[in-house]
Amino acid sequence: MNIQNNIPLAPLTTIKLGGNASQYITCTTNEDIVAALKHAQEHNLPAGQAGLRVHVLGGGSNTIFADNGFNGLIIHIQTKGITASADGTLTAQAGEGWDTVVQYAIVNNLAGIECLSGIPGSAGATPFQNVGAYGQEVAETIIRVDAINRQTLEQISFTNTDCNFAYRTSRFKTTDRDRYIITSVTFSLTPNGTPTIKYPELAAFVATSAPEASLASVRDAVLTLRKKKSMVVGSEDPNSISCGSFFTNPIIALSAFNALQQHSADKIPNYPAGNTEDGTLLCKLSAAWLVEHAGFSKGLERGNVGISQNHSLALINKGGTTQEILALAQEIQDTVQTTFGVKLEMEPIVVD
Ligand SMILES: Cc1cc2nc3c(=O)[nH]c(=O)nc-3n(C[C@H](O)[C@H](O)[C@H](O)COP(=O)(O)OP(=O)(O)OC[C@H]3O[C@@H](n4cnc5c(N)ncnc54)[C@H](O)[C@@H]3O)c2cc1C
Repeated sequence: MNIQNNIPLAPLTTIKLGGNASQYITCTTNEDIVAALKHAQEHNLPAGQAGLRVHVLGGGSNTIFADNGFNGLIIHIQTKGITASADGTLTAQAGEGWDTVVQYAIVNNLAGIECLSGIPGSAGATPFQNVGAYGQEVAETIIRVDAINRQTLEQISFTNTDCNFAYRTSRFKTTDRDRYIITSVTFSLTPNGTPTIKYPELAAFVATSAPEASLASVRDAVLTLRKKKSMVVGSEDPNSISCGSFFTNPIIALSAFNALQQHSADKIPNYPAGNTEDGTLLCKLSAAWLVEHAGFSKGLERGNVGISQNHSLALINKGGTTQEILALAQEIQDTVQTTFGVKLEMEPIVVD
């Protein structure tokens, strides 16, 4: 087992922030993952707690490490492989790049994840926050998630229902946070299916740029739209040194929204978001609208961090620190709360 010490974490993330990991291992097989977890269980921390702290890292596109790094073991998942069968069942190993999986599906004429083109990160992280964009989310097509229990080291499979998917969340992000390492994700895609074109911005773009609307042309359209917003990671684009959207769209009771709207001179964008178990109607607000109308514009700078010039929800690193980016996030959250009485939830995972 090749455990390395004192490894810089910033280069392993898209926002390029954070100090060093005291221990780090790359896992290219599921056996490597089990061995790394055993190592962590067998090595006590100086403070005497049972086991070394462990953090699981995929593509690092939704992760912000603390400036003073991580005192524990980073398990970097690098397992590769994609298989698909004639009925449209596609399985991706956790460390496979997500966009590679989308490309594979499109080349094999499998519909269901084409709108998720260009999202950075690994396939294994997609169930964690039920990755979504442009009218699709992975919860619509995932049929199975295979994982290893971090405590017992046993393998376990979850059905779609088991995962408790909801908007940008799942059991892996909430009730079972840090309990499992996802090893593979299986999707049920539609052979020779038609692309999903329901997101208004995508529909309008496709109508003019690619009226024949194949899976490939919808992928191209999504990539074009995403690049305009710096939502595709590229070394040539300083506005993509980010975690994508820093805040999720708030979901609040419709009654609370109506009260808010009454006191606002602007028409606040809102979308139906189902209801709670007790029947309370919910609506989703646009985090981007709230941020902009609370006074935070695209291109804003705070020291060495700021807001992307191309997307008001993307906080970007311009040679700054985690402390600076979290201070800006807090400033935005506080101002939105004071202005609209709405709490913005952070989307990236902060690891310290
Ligand atoms: C420019 C940009 C655009 C983005 N656009 C979108 C978008 O359109 N839609 C969207 O939903 N997200 C978007 N994101 C966020 C991000 O890409 C996704 O959340 C992605 O799924 C994170 O994958 P990752 O492998 O990089 O995860 P990481 O950042 O490595 O990890 C994120 C979390 O998942 C956990 N995790 C990772 N792998 C595993 C595993 N195998 N088992 C268990 N837990 C694991 C980690 O421990 C951590 O808690 C964007 C990010 C960027 C930088």
